[in-house]
Amino acid sequence: MKDTLFIQFYNYNQRFYNYELSNGFSDTYDLCKSYGDFYWVNHKKIKLDQKDFGYDDDFIIDRGTVYASVSFTSHLYQVYLWALRYPNINFIVGGPCIFWGNGYKIIKQLPKNITFIYKTVEEYFGKPNFSYQWKLVPPKDIQQNEVLSYSYSMENVCYWRKCIFCSFQHQQKIHYIRNRKKFNNEYLNVDYKGKKEIRLNADSFAPKTIKSFFNGLTIPNDIKHLRIFMRPTLAEYHNLKYIKTKVQISLGLEFPSERMWNYINKGYNYEDVSKVINHMSENTNFKLIVNIILGWNNLIPEDIINMRSFLLKLNYPSLTTFVVHNLFIFSGSHLMDDYPNIQDKITVGPFYMGYKPNISKEQLKLNKEAYQIIEHLKEVKNITIHDV
Ligand code: SF4
Repeated sequence: MKDTLFIQFYNYNQRFYNYELSNGFSDTYDLCKSYGDFYWVNHKKIKLDQKDFGYDDDFIIDRGTVYASVSFTSHLYQVYLWALRYPNINFIVGGPCIFWGNGYKIIKQLPKNITFIYKTVEEYFGKPNFSYQWKLVPPKDIQQNEVLSYSYSMENVCYWRKCIFCSFQHQQKIHYIRNRKKFNNEYLNVDYKGKKEIRLNADSFAPKTIKSFFNGLTIPNDIKHLRIFMRPTLAEYHNLKYIKTKVQISLGLEFPSERMWNYINKGYNYEDVSKVINHMSENTNFKLIVNIILGWNNLIPEDIINMRSFLLKLNYPSLTTFVVHNLFIFSGSHLMDDYPNIQDKITVGPFYMGYKPNISKEQLKLNKEAYQIIEHLKEVKNITIHDV
């Protein structure tokens, strides 16, 4: 093992029964390989509740340079713990969690041997962006009968950036790292015989990207499906006709009431969303996951009535799953400035993530009624609910 490592994290996702790889160095595999070795970190070993060091094992080297691709705060926290424990290793840290890093604030001094880079790997090493072949060598311990899920980055900034709970709305220009301009099928070349699922990474797939990526695209049978996040607006709707392959689509409906969508700044209405969902339901290629957020403190009884009638009216064959989230006020989101009633402040090591809001009894009742509507859909429309 060299004393320069490129580490990437992976974990088994119980919810979707697959291995999720955070393969952040895939765009620059050969460039990284010329400097050091790749090292996969199995995320399940990390225990965030431990006061001490979160990782069960010793790190694989105790001096040298470690480049880390961090997608989530838990990855970042783990790297921070290693930086404390291994002062003779320089940790150079990049990836989505860093360059979109306005979902947290640094509240304590970081160790001197940890450096964040707000650049692509190519820029860091002085090379042109996308001048290398995309490549992925999966972790060796994943059996070929498992579903392998990995990502292929498309756009590194949300084209909308207006939703008030989302910290992406404050993304700085410095964080607008390259968007992929040319699509080819390089991401299909993975040395893995089992089923694969590809997460096409974009905070919200822009309408023009839907057209340019999916137009004429066919994919082989070992690809279980592609996975994207998309806004359900008319612009996206008009480009859905270009999707002729199996796609799992996540829609952030947040709270399905037009009054709440206006408040959140979603920029769509019932008519747009119904068109998108009903179109997808008429086509078996689509598998649809809808994200709902509960825990609001400004609901009115009409929101609940409208939510019920809207959700009951939708066509369901493709809409299979509701993922229900609890409202969390991220540091850096617009809501952070004007949402009252802090309940629990959440810190992860030296990082302040934000807080859970406290809501009144009356609001709790309305939020519960909203949840009961979703539970009712589970019975009558055969929907799966995932509570996050
Ligand atoms: S919630 Fe989604 S659409 Fe809204 S700003 Fe964030 S990433 Fe963009």
